[in-house]
Amino acid sequence: MSTHKYQPLSGREFPRFSSIKTFFRLPHVKIDDDYDVALFGTPYDGGVSYRPGGRFAPTLVRECSSLGRGFHFTRGQFLFDQLKFADIGDCPTVPISQEQTYEKIENFANILLKKNKKFLSVGGDHSTTLPLLRAAAKKHGRLNLIHFDAHLDTYPAAWGCEYHHGAFARHAVEEGLVNPQQMIQIGIRGPLASAEDLKFIKKNKIKIYDMDMIRKKPIHSVAQEIGRTVAKMKGPTFITYDIDCLDPAFAPGTGTPVPGGLSTYEVQQIFRSFKIKNLVGADIVEVSPPYDNSQITGLAAVDAMFEIMNLFKKGE
Ligand code: MN
Ligand code: MN
Repeated sequence: MSTHKYQPLSGREFPRFSSIKTFFRLPHVKIDDDYDVALFGTPYDGGVSYRPGGRFAPTLVRECSSLGRGFHFTRGQFLFDQLKFADIGDCPTVPISQEQTYEKIENFANILLKKNKKFLSVGGDHSTTLPLLRAAAKKHGRLNLIHFDAHLDTYPAAWGCEYHHGAFARHAVEEGLVNPQQMIQIGIRGPLASAEDLKFIKKNKIKIYDMDMIRKKPIHSVAQEIGRTVAKMKGPTFITYDIDCLDPAFAPGTGTPVPGGLSTYEVQQIFRSFKIKNLVGADIVEVSPPYDNSQITGLAAVDAMFEIMNLFKKGE
């Protein structure tokens, strides 16, 4: 057991329903403290096309993470001995200006990256991922991208606006932030607006694991297959986890739910197949607490968060 201060508050000393809520009951520290991986909220939902509410996600996820524990059952590791995780609060946002919000998110990530920190952001709608990728690519070069989603998020501008939550992946490719041939999308399913929507994917040779591909085989063998694809990725990697990759039965609290999705168990199996050499950053997006029931979605977000936290390593 290590002696550093970045340990969660014990549920055996302080019941899990008590105390001030931070991610995983970890210490809330300043941005320039000596942790390895920053956990922070990015409360912004000005990029949604349908239901809003993502601005409340960091608060819900912090509360639900009171049930988070440190020992990974299948990896056999105690997370909080491997690395120092801390809750550094929320990234500043401007609820009525996406332009200013993008600037603030990118600046916030720049500060972390300059100090060689890794990070996991809890958004926010999926438009908040783009400024994180801009900052990460500036620091590390072109990134590999592991993208969980029901949607492709390579869609064209809507209402004359480029930067809505369904376009971040297209911008990430067009701006050269991610390598489309080292990019996978997991959980994709229709319906799409038109066949046109697939053109961008084909043109850029983006690898998709759609729901039919996932459901046709036993989940353990599909997970291994996805794991092998991920293992081949060299260089800096970013994970973006849109909670709507899950079926609405497993994640009702989201902005644009699509039936026929993944279960929480399947997502666990996929994450557990991953071995990533250099995970530089990650985010969890599209949790909309006003549409959640019994914290189902909040707990699913915490679970994905835990799986992702287990993929960070020291160094680089
Ligand atoms: Mn998305
Ligand atoms: Mn989505």
